[in-house]
Amino acid sequence: MNASEVRGENCGIFGICSTEECAGSIYQGIDFLQHRGQEYCGISTFDAGLHHVTHHGKVINMFTDDELRSLRGRWGIGHVSLWERQPMKWQTQVGEIAVAFSGNIMNAEALMTDMMHRGKSFYKGYNIEILSKVIIEEQDIPKGIAVLAEKVRGAYSLVVLSRDGVYAARDIYGFRPLIIGTDGKRFAVSSESRALKNLDLQIVRDVEPGEILLIDDKGFHTLARIPSPRRAHCAFEWAYTASIDSVIDGVYVQEARSNLGEQLARRDEEEGDFPGDCVSPVPLSGIGHALGYHRYSRIPYQEVFLYHRYADRSYTQSTQLARERMAKRKLSVLPYAVKGSRIVLCDDSIVRGTQIMNKVRDLKKAGAREVHVRVACPPLMYPCDFGISTRSYDELIARRFISEGNVESKAQLRDLETWIAGRIDADSVRFNSLERFVSALKIPREDLCLKCFDGGFPIRSG
Ligand code: SF4
Repeated sequence: MNASEVRGENCGIFGICSTEECAGSIYQGIDFLQHRGQEYCGISTFDAGLHHVTHHGKVINMFTDDELRSLRGRWGIGHVSLWERQPMKWQTQVGEIAVAFSGNIMNAEALMTDMMHRGKSFYKGYNIEILSKVIIEEQDIPKGIAVLAEKVRGAYSLVVLSRDGVYAARDIYGFRPLIIGTDGKRFAVSSESRALKNLDLQIVRDVEPGEILLIDDKGFHTLARIPSPRRAHCAFEWAYTASIDSVIDGVYVQEARSNLGEQLARRDEEEGDFPGDCVSPVPLSGIGHALGYHRYSRIPYQEVFLYHRYADRSYTQSTQLARERMAKRKLSVLPYAVKGSRIVLCDDSIVRGTQIMNKVRDLKKAGAREVHVRVACPPLMYPCDFGISTRSYDELIARRFISEGNVESKAQLRDLETWIAGRIDADSVRFNSLERFVSALKIPREDLCLKCFDGGFPIRSG
């Protein structure tokens, strides 16, 4: 998967109120969100006061039994991240609180300058600091969370731990996922449904864009619904970011990926024929797409790479060098399957093109006759401003071919594909068009953020 070339600022958040001690559930919950960020993890709980532990490292390696025992209380929150330690804890006029979020604040500097003029100071100016201070300034947590909708330009799903329980909220556009679940004794909220299901909690529903909830040991209480001008769910969640066993905003990730693969196969069929004698994924995130292609085309499904199960997900590594090393370590070729084959190779997206080029070359070196690359996402033409950032315009391979604007016509798309195929040594390359991509997700186009493909800015200006 070429998102090893993507810099992810994505995070995972989790919150729970229980009739019993909750640290173990939070630990399990954030472990199931680890694919959303692997550099930092943290847990805060509340029991008369705040208990708080954060680490640089993965959940499974870092928390000791003693630490988990020290995290006393029946309600708490957890976080996994690539870039910063969260939750962040604060002493406030409404008592001790801890805050964790997933997303990106576009007007962070303006908000910080404004607050500095009012005498506030900042440690490093992290997004989480700014968000927390906007909330704290109001001296009332739900009011502070509501004010975020007015002041913050960007994407956020967040959890706030206090003596009242856990507050949870999603920005008014619903960029980042947030879902609630319960077994009647535990009431939880999570970035992805897989964390809830794996704790044997029943999914209740997604948190609505603009909704502010209080979760306590009696259940979920909606405190406010801030009107949402439109929805802008991140389309990349279904194609790559989320785990394939999750369901987001009512759409199964596995189904979406299968549909995306089917659309790639339909296009090949419409344009002539399926070009290979086997269809293979770039593991792991290409698997759902390859299976969808296989199901429609009936071409045999064949693994051609062995996934190194102990390697980390490459895009969530924090430096380019680490990402390159990890990508290399992650997949090794299965020569027996490859020799003499014409391979349809499915991946979720192409960012710079370096990683897919290496994979195509590896397959050809191992004896593949032809490699035809099929990409679930349309060409990436714009960086993301909402929490999953590609590095710059210059580094997007599609952008280097078409210097301005998006891919508007079929002829333009075909020219781009031919050019990229030449750059990555593939026998052919095909992307899903934006129309096919949206139809595969089965979500109305106006409810999706598609900015990295078409440049359309889904949020208010100013
Ligand atoms: S710009 Fe792309 S990656 Fe960013 S939120 Fe929108 S769809 Fe998702």
